[in-house]
Amino acid sequence: MDGERLLSSLSDSSDETEFYTPLPAGYERGQCKYVVVFGTVMSGLGKGIFSSSLAKVLKDKGVTVAPIKLEGYLNRDSGTLNPFRHGEVFVLDDGMECDMDLGTYERMLNQDVTRLNFCTSGQIFSRVLDKERRGGYLGRDVQMIPHVTGEVKSRLRELAVTTRADMIFVEIGGTVGDVENAYFIEAIRELAFEEGPGSVCNVALTYIVEPAMLGEQKSKPAQLNLKALMAAGIHPHVIACRARHPATKKVREKLAMYSNVPMERVFSMHDCESVYLIPEMLRGAGIDTAVLDLLGVGDKADENREESHRAVWNDYIARFRATKNPVTIGVTGKYTSLRDSYASIIQAIEHAGVHYGAKVRLEWFDSSILTEENVADRLKHIHGVIVPGGFGVRGVDGKLACIRYVRENKIPYLGLCYGLQMAVIEYARNVCGMEDAGSTEIDTDSPYPVIDILPEQKKIEGLGGNMRLGGHEVVLTPRSVVSELYGGAKTIRLRFRHRYEVDPAYIERLEAGGLIFSGRSPSHPIMQVLELPRATHPFFVGTQAHPELTSRPLDPEPMFAGFVHAALAHSGVRDAQPTSSLPRGIHHAENHFNETAAAE
Ligand code: GLN
Repeated sequence: MDGERLLSSLSDSSDETEFYTPLPAGYERGQCKYVVVFGTVMSGLGKGIFSSSLAKVLKDKGVTVAPIKLEGYLNRDSGTLNPFRHGEVFVLDDGMECDMDLGTYERMLNQDVTRLNFCTSGQIFSRVLDKERRGGYLGRDVQMIPHVTGEVKSRLRELAVTTRADMIFVEIGGTVGDVENAYFIEAIRELAFEEGPGSVCNVALTYIVEPAMLGEQKSKPAQLNLKALMAAGIHPHVIACRARHPATKKVREKLAMYSNVPMERVFSMHDCESVYLIPEMLRGAGIDTAVLDLLGVGDKADENREESHRAVWNDYIARFRATKNPVTIGVTGKYTSLRDSYASIIQAIEHAGVHYGAKVRLEWFDSSILTEENVADRLKHIHGVIVPGGFGVRGVDGKLACIRYVRENKIPYLGLCYGLQMAVIEYARNVCGMEDAGSTEIDTDSPYPVIDILPEQKKIEGLGGNMRLGGHEVVLTPRSVVSELYGGAKTIRLRFRHRYEVDPAYIERLEAGGLIFSGRSPSHPIMQVLELPRATHPFFVGTQAHPELTSRPLDPEPMFAGFVHAALAHSGVRDAQPTSSLPRGIHHAENHFNETAAAE
């Protein structure tokens, strides 16, 4: 039976058939190829980093790519997840709250993604249950196979139709053997059969242990878990060995032998100093061409295109390695014990540091231990302070003490979301004479609730997906600090995730006290950026947005860049010049939403 006939027989929707493969309108079999990344042995191996690096290398060659993360948990999105357990919540331009891996995809591919690129079990099951109520499976008992797996395949094919990508990169969350992702793996097994040979390339990421008491690498856990993958009907085509040190030939041979994967496709992806080195590691091992060959799309590769993109990327790596001026930035937050909670801030700081040749060291301060009394001592060696996003009461006093100290001592400050709100409270209390000014999030009895819940939020109940989310326009005041950072732009677009804001009733009084609101919403009285005038402070900027989410290696976010520049000056390096010979923004988003926004 030929492929088309096979697929149409599978998508027969009558209740006479055992098959269930809903095909989205416009789907053409073979139009798109799939690269699927599975994790074995343990989680946290960097599947997203691997998958996005491979996608990047292929994109450099001219292949159009679209990533998707399949997430096993039953939440519909990541909005209600605790960053302490799951890492930061990454917000997309369209408002989707998702896993931090989506941030890795956007940065690596320099491409905005949408809610179609993020799929949780919660989304799959809601779809199945809604469809059942609408009579979508009449006469049938709804089963994990074929109905739930059918919806998974459907999500992948919908992405193919919508993006028209040559290749979809599917990252399966969790580890082989988890109950949560077993049906995703099963869906991929079905997909590979339906799409036919040469359509799906399976990549297994594995971990090579190196126990201290042995002092050598051992491949057994990897072998056993690869076996579990094969028992699920997935034969890997490529094996990527995560390891502390380069995976030895012996280990690679063992894996090759036990899984029938040729040696040249079992490669070492050992720890390295920056995730941005991984694409070059993959190129060096020839994994990019191996994947093109396996999927029969070698003709898509454009060497000239690849060379120019590679040169720009390697220039970034060279500048990263050449950073020399040491700068220490303090981050005052709640989740300081887990770096993943602030993944995008760490990235944005790296991009800005590379841009100005600064070797930035981040120092984490748990805000619950900072006080008016100890702050000067604790921060004495710090060249700039960030107060990141946050929720709730804990550590608020420490943040306020910290902001007062940096404001009065002219230490560069960047406030992100909660960091803007805290700066407003601090200013209201200590400069504008509003004693005990506060936020209704923290204290409903404050005599001056300068931060209050958004009017439209007052009506909404429940905690899931109900914040002001996603990309919004920000109108900048001409000649303000922030407008200059953005090269004189009148309007920019930033991403938001908040429920509270500056109460417009206090704006006049705060401004009379010297605070400047230099970025506002075009349609609502929402204060989105604040600053202190250059004459009174070298760099004091706060934003209600999360600019860290839109920083890219080749296009550092201007507020972060300005902040690092000011921190360098505070450390004694005056007038640091950009290290890049390329004009800024050259790569700015082949795919950013700025243009769409401009047309709105
Ligand atoms: N808790 C604040 C609010 O909801 C700030 C949120 C944040 O920092 N992301 O408005």
